[in-house]
Amino acid sequence: MTIFKDGFDIVTKVSKDIKDSKLASELTQIIPILTTAQTENMELSSKNLELEKKLFNLEKEHAEEITGLKEKLSAKEFIDNCDFDETCGFYVSKENGQRYCTSCLLKGIKSPLQKYRHSWDCKVIGCGQCYSPPQNIDPPDTPGYGFQSF
Ligand SMILES: [Zn+2]
Repeated sequence: MTIFKDGFDIVTKVSKDIKDSKLASELTQIIPILTTAQTENMELSSKNLELEKKLFNLEKEHAEEITGLKEKLSAKEFIDNCDFDETCGFYVSKENGQRYCTSCLLKGIKSPLQKYRHSWDCKVIGCGQCYSPPQNIDPPDTPGYGFQSF
């Protein structure tokens, strides 16, 4: 098996086997084009490696921010799958009807509300938001609770 070093090598070897001298001559004219393409390819590969290295370093340097942004994006996607209950001010999952603390969701914490007799309460330490329905409405049943981060 022949291993070609570069465009020049390929064209030289191929044109030796071509009987038509005009065609062989024309074939050699592509050598500079191939050489340029190879040079550009090597430059681009080198730049690509450089950029991959920069990207790696930037991701490493900003890992915390990236994680924070991913959590916010995840929280936004979660909120998009909820309805906002304007009467009480919390979010309700379209999927399972679970109610979530608005204050916590906006901070990126998914905190299902605990149902009490006259309110739904957030159990996140440092939040403790209580959501009360109007007097004539009883808090409906909610599935189990247990807050979690995104
Ligand atoms: Zn909360």
